[in-house]
Order: sequence, then C-alpha cells, then structure tokens
Amino acid sequence: MHDQDIFDVTIIGGGPAGMYAAFYAGMREMKVKLIEGKHQLGGFLHTYSDKTIWDVGGLPPMKCAKLIDWLVQQAGTFEPTVVFNQSVDALTRLDNGVIALHTATGETHHTRSVIVAIGRGIAEVQKLELDSAHDFERSNLHYTVQNLNYFAGKNVLISGGGNTAVDWALELADVAHTVTVVHRQEAFRAMEHNVKQMKKKVKVLTPFQVERLYGNGERIDQVAICNKATGENIRLEVDEVIISHGYTSQTSNIARCGLVMNEGVISMNHLGETNISGVFTAGDCANREGKVRLIAGAFNDAIVAVNSAKIYVEPTADEMAYVSSHNELFREKNRDLKNG
Ligand SMILES: Cc1cc2nc3c(=O)[nH]c(=O)nc-3n(C[C@H](O)[C@H](O)[C@H](O)COP(=O)(O)OP(=O)(O)OC[C@H]3O[C@@H](n4cnc5c(N)ncnc54)[C@H](O)[C@@H]3O)c2cc1C
Repeated sequence: MHDQDIFDVTIIGGGPAGMYAAFYAGMREMKVKLIEGKHQLGGFLHTYSDKTIWDVGGLPPMKCAKLIDWLVQQAGTFEPTVVFNQSVDALTRLDNGVIALHTATGETHHTRSVIVAIGRGIAEVQKLELDSAHDFERSNLHYTVQNLNYFAGKNVLISGGGNTAVDWALELADVAHTVTVVHRQEAFRAMEHNVKQMKKKVKVLTPFQVERLYGNGERIDQVAICNKATGENIRLEVDEVIISHGYTSQTSNIARCGLVMNEGVISMNHLGETNISGVFTAGDCANREGKVRLIAGAFNDAIVAVNSAKIYVEPTADEMAYVSSHNELFREKNRDLKNG
C-alpha cells in the first residue's frame, strides 16, 4: 500500500450527509474519498425527487431533483474521489493505525479516518410481486411519477396506501381523465387531511390488491384487483399503472462492525464520534440526544464529523474550518464566478 492510496477521510454514503461532508472536508483541505453503494449520489432524496422541498434554510422551494443536482455540484467543489456501486461491508484496522474498508464486491479502501453516513441503508423500490410486472416497466407500469403531464387525460390506477400514493392521487386528480386508488388495507398510512381530500376527488377501492396485469401486446390494458376481505374480483380498464408500495432498505453490514447501536442507529456523541476511534458518523444513521433527521440536520452532523475527523488525523489543526466568506480557498473560485 502506497501513501498516496491512503485518504485522510473516507465517507461512506452519498446522501445529503455524505455529500455535504465531502464538500466540507475539501474545505478543510483533506484528501477525501466518497463511497456510494448505488450508481448515483443523492441518497434517500431520490425516493421523493418529484416533491417540492421548502425547509432547507435559505433555499427557495424547489423540486428535490434540483436540490440533488446542487448538492452533487457542491460535493464536487474540491474534486473528491468518488466511487460508485460499492457497498462498504466491513472495517478492519491495520498495525499502522490505517483503517481498511472492505466492500461487498471485494475492493479494499485505505483511510486515516471514516465518516459513516449510510442513512437508511441502500434503498430499493418495492416492486409489484407479479411475474409479468417486469415486462411492463418499459411501457405503462411506473414506480415513480417524474412528469405529471405525461398522465394528462389518461385512466390511471395507483396502488398504495402511504403519503406518496395519496400525494400522487391528489396531484393527478386535476390532470388525468380518471384516477383509481387501490389499497390492500382499509386505513391509509398518510396525512389525514390529504386522505379526506383524496376520497373526495378520486375513486378509492379498499381493501383491494392488484392480482393480475392483462397486456395487449406491450402495454397493460386491464388490471384485475381482488377484495382481500370478500374475495370479489374486479377488472379495471387502465392506461397507466403506478405502484407506490414504498422502499426496502437493507441495513448495511458496516453498522454491525463493532459500532455501538441504539434502536437501529449508530450512537455518537456531540462531536460525531462513535465508539471506534477514527470512525465518525453523520446524518440519519446516527443518533444522539437532540438529533434532527432532516436534510439540515444532516448538514450540521457532517460539519461536526468532518471537524472531528480533521483533528483526529491532524491533532494540531484548528477545531473548525475558517468561514467560506473569508476563506482563501475560494478566492480563485469567486473570481471565476464573477467572470463566468
Ligand atoms: C418521504 C420522505 C420525505 C422527506 N422530506 C424531507 C423534507 O422535505 N425536508 C427534509 O429536510 N428532509 C426530508 N426527509 C428526510 C431526509 O430525506 C433525510 O434526513 C436525509 O435523506 C438523510 O440524509 P443521509 O445522507 O443521512 O441519508 P440517505 O439520504 O439515506 O443517504 C444514505 C446514502 O448511503 C448509501 N449507503 C448506505 N449504505 C451504504 C454502504 N454500506 N456503502 C456505501 N453506501 C451506502 C445509500 O445508498 C445512500 O445513498 C424526508 C424523508 C422521507 C423518507
């Protein structure tokens, strides 16, 4: 192992906590690596990328997809090394104190410190458990709504009972020709006010679940639904089918590598330190009294964890980074912005 292969800090997870940590660690002039288990940065934000976000300090309301773009851009400011499609599974310490991170696909990454920012684990959309479903994913079976106008004038069936299903039903009610929501429980797991509105605006069938998709060529044209209580079967004519059955997320094995956990999340102190020296944590995977599980909370954790990691690798360093408004690191970048 050559010294140039050892990073000052390696951040595991490319959600808001990990991305902001990558930026801030660059501001602290650390050699940074960011390892993300999926093919893209953004973390859990991708699961609601079509929603409008209002509560990130100082930013105007914007589609979450846009916020992801901005976070990705900011994370790249100091050109960290970014690795995709590698899930960190284990951590060992070498005799010289360097930490080795091992991935599920067999790679090893060496680092002086680690920030675990794995959030809710690696999220995967919960797919419709019917053999034929996969065939229609390229046509009219959807797991997300990217563009409301695509559904204009169409007969849309939505399966699901959470906030996302209810939100889509409300938004599509004004756009689509008809919207039918089927949910296998009587009760929805969504905001009461929105459920009431939805029941006024669209057809709601409970406790029904999707039993079969009928396709004419490449597209679904009918969906059979079954009443879970009575066994009644109904066939509905559809143009588009939206499945909103939530996400599964696997808890990362890394969280089981000797890190002290509390109620499924990693315990940290006010400095973002875990029980393992040199290993810090930030974002939704971390816990301490007063922890805020919001994007803004993830940013705050990231700053604290990076400052602690910096002092860990360089004990004489300042406790905090110098502010960005008067920071020499940005002088040239500011000039470029002015001229650009
Ligand atoms: C439906 C919903 C709506 C929300 N709306 C808002 C809102 O309006 N405003 C707000 O402030 N907050 C909102 N939140 C909360 C916000 O999304 C979270 O606080 C934020 O995503 C936490 O960021 P994070 O980086 O800690 O984790 P995540 O966003 O979960 O990112 C973790 C990343 O780590 C990766 N990862 C996991 N394990 C590994 C591994 N072993 N190796 C490599 N990579 C790994 C994952 O793939 C993922 O990219 C919402 C949450 C939900 C569920």
